[in-house]
Amino acid sequence: MSNVNTERETLRCKHCELMQFKTKAEICRRCFKPYQDPVTAQPEPVKPAPKFDWGFCIRLVRQAKGMSQLDLSRALGLTSPRTWISKIERGQIECPTLESLERLAVALGTRPGVLVLIASAAGQTGVQQ
Ligand SMILES: [Zn+2]
Repeated sequence: MSNVNTERETLRCKHCELMQFKTKAEICRRCFKPYQDPVTAQPEPVKPAPKFDWGFCIRLVRQAKGMSQLDLSRALGLTSPRTWISKIERGQIECPTLESLERLAVALGTRPGVLVLIASAAGQTGVQQ
């Protein structure tokens, strides 16, 4: 229930139940308590988490290096060939660990920061192959 003329808006204090014209300070005229709970009055805005497209990033760099998924899994020393690579490229792994990111970067002959940059750019533009 909103009122155009907020200066003359009436409300009932939830602490002392007094019906009153709303004060500018938003404090009750009788009990001097704020009308609204500060916690509920200003809820924290939820920031959207930064999006990373790791699948696009890894596939892009791998193909740029002329590596197959098998080549990359061998460079990583993975025991189950291609499964992990295939999963991350299909977006089935949301976020690689820092350790695996570093290993990926080494295997791809680049630095983790480069992979983060590409994944971040791809995630924000929503670019898809
Ligand atoms: Zn009151």
